[in-house]
Amino acid sequence: MVKIPDGSRAFIVGRFQPFHYGHLKLIKQILKDNDSVIIGIGSAQYSHTLKDPFTAGERHIMISSSLESEGIYQFYLVPIEDVNSNPLWVAHVESLTPRFNKVYTNNPLVRRLFGEKGYDVHSMELMNRDSWSGTHIREKILNGENWKDDVPQPVWELIEEIDGVNRLIDLSKTDEDVI
Ligand code: NAP
Repeated sequence: MVKIPDGSRAFIVGRFQPFHYGHLKLIKQILKDNDSVIIGIGSAQYSHTLKDPFTAGERHIMISSSLESEGIYQFYLVPIEDVNSNPLWVAHVESLTPRFNKVYTNNPLVRRLFGEKGYDVHSMELMNRDSWSGTHIREKILNGENWKDDVPQPVWELIEEIDGVNRLIDLSKTDEDVI
């Protein structure tokens, strides 16, 4: 395990499409046991698709504004593009982030890749998955249902500012819909 002289630093990665209250609660929980947390913005190269509608920069603002509005400042945000080799992915993450000694994930692949490199890997499930789920929230946005209650205010403000609802609606259309 990596020894960090200046305290414990945890790592969590997700796509955060979008960042929601489940993610916020998870990060607060991690900070109870660690001095700081590195938040990897996964699949950073993707945006403008139904599964990954928001850019890494937009997700960066969603996360940093939400945490700062809660008085949380012990975090590092690092956009991480995918690589086409799973065995190389941990080294890729390490090359982009400050050193860390604990990994929090529920993703079996992420757990295996970091475990094989000797990291202390912890499971932490997201809560209230009926509402706090990126997939459900994107569906609600598309269906015109109330989704703002599932995300921190800075997130819905950012989505409004970038015309995010119409972005998702446009992404769901085919060429024939436009004609
Ligand atoms: P993800 O793709 O962000 O999420 C997958 C699913 O798991 C989503 O439904 C997500 O819900 C849910 N989820 C996320 N955290 C959870 C938790 N703690 N408990 C229960 N469910 C949870 O996957 P991820 O594990 O959060 O992030 C992994 C990132 O690493 C991805 O960007 C992936 O591409 C990247 N990665 C890349 C490589 C490579 O490049 N070779 C290899 C491994 C991983 P929400 O949508 O609500 O968050």
